[in-house]
Amino acid sequence: MTAPTDRNSAFSADEPPFPDADVFDGMSLLKPEEQEALQAIRRHMQDQVRDQIIDYWNREAFPFEMLPELADLGLGEIAVAERSWLFRGLAYAEVARADVSLSTLAGIHNELIIGMIAQLGSDTHRAQWLDKLRRFEAIGCFAMTEPDHGSDIAGGISTTATKTAAGWRLDGTKRWIGAGTFADFALVWAKDTADGRIKGFLVPMDRPGITAKKIHHKTGLRVMQNADITFDKVEIQQADLLPGAIEFSAANQLLRNSRVWVGWQAYGAQLHAFDVARDYALSRQQFGQPLAKFQLIQQELAEMISNAMATFGLMYHVARLQQENRVQMVHAAMAKSTGSRLLRETAARARNILGGNGIVSTYEAAKIFNDAEVIHTYEGTYEINSLIVARAVTGVSAFV
Ligand SMILES: Cc1cc2nc3c(=O)[nH]c(=O)nc-3n(C[C@H](O)[C@H](O)[C@H](O)COP(=O)(O)OP(=O)(O)OC[C@H]3O[C@@H](n4cnc5c(N)ncnc54)[C@H](O)[C@@H]3O)c2cc1C
Repeated sequence: MTAPTDRNSAFSADEPPFPDADVFDGMSLLKPEEQEALQAIRRHMQDQVRDQIIDYWNREAFPFEMLPELADLGLGEIAVAERSWLFRGLAYAEVARADVSLSTLAGIHNELIIGMIAQLGSDTHRAQWLDKLRRFEAIGCFAMTEPDHGSDIAGGISTTATKTAAGWRLDGTKRWIGAGTFADFALVWAKDTADGRIKGFLVPMDRPGITAKKIHHKTGLRVMQNADITFDKVEIQQADLLPGAIEFSAANQLLRNSRVWVGWQAYGAQLHAFDVARDYALSRQQFGQPLAKFQLIQQELAEMISNAMATFGLMYHVARLQQENRVQMVHAAMAKSTGSRLLRETAARARNILGGNGIVSTYEAAKIFNDAEVIHTYEGTYEINSLIVARAVTGVSAFV
């Protein structure tokens, strides 16, 4: 009986066929310079991040010291770089393949923070923040969800913005806000008490009246620091209103793109689950043979890689629609719901292949299993995204 190490590199000298698990050769669909950039991201995440991040996950800590290198790889500016949508998605997937929290940071940072400032902000907002954001020298958080309103947030926002002589006053509480404990500013969605419309504000986190409290004891996404943020009579300036965000529909395009990003996370996390399970099955011996020799284990591995490739096929077509400017919410919702459904199954199979070690987070399978639950729930839950798909194909809404 061989006792396997905590993890064997997915890209070791003793490589199995398809060592990077790219069975559909997705890499070849990119331009040569994008292939090079993606390889650099993959190498860095596998060699410099994947092993180290487990300790942060176990301690609920954030690796601030890793940010400069992630910036060097261009991960702080994917949303504004001249790259294809396919590259953008595959880059998120390669980050998720090492750690879902870091890909959450990259996704929110690019799709929601940079996206919102670039598209809906003022020239002053762009001049003040974009360069720093591109280098991860500034971090923003996206504050939409509230304690009493999650799935029904669009119609239920209770945080208020009241016009004052100097600007606006914000009152209310936001929940689950990623990077909320250390962000430089929050993009806050609040209801204008005068016209009842939902508006977006860029609020520096050092304003008096703001309290951010870390949510402890999460069982998933433990590297990301999520916070409950309270706004108690917070005075902000008129210039803090994002001029393009004067009603909730302004968020639609951003939320659509961020749902696509979560579909790519589901792809990357499935590759990670497959990497871990295949390595383990090839090295762990029972009954005098590697686990990979048993037909039932082979079936599990076949279903895992097939789930991952099915997700890739779906995401590839969504990226094509994005490239042609034809993507709609139904595509994004399908990407998010289907990717997260397949991920849940793939992650559970990885956990099973590791037997008892599958519940020890240093072997990675348990970490992936728990992070998969967050992918299932955030950016619109699995159910809400399924309802969006069903509404699109029946013409009947079952939720609003
Ligand atoms: C780790 C983590 C990070 C997050 N980061 C952020 C962030 O940075 N910024 C931010 O604004 N938000 C963030 N969120 C919030 C996230 O988007 C919400 O958790 C999500 O929208 C679901 O809301 P809820 O948790 O209140 O669940 P609820 O809305 O209370 O839902 C509970 C259950 O009921 C189901 N349900 C609800 N309504 C219906 C319906 N009509 N039909 C069928 N089923 C229904 C849901 O699918 C779910 O299974 C984060 C959440 C988590 C867990």
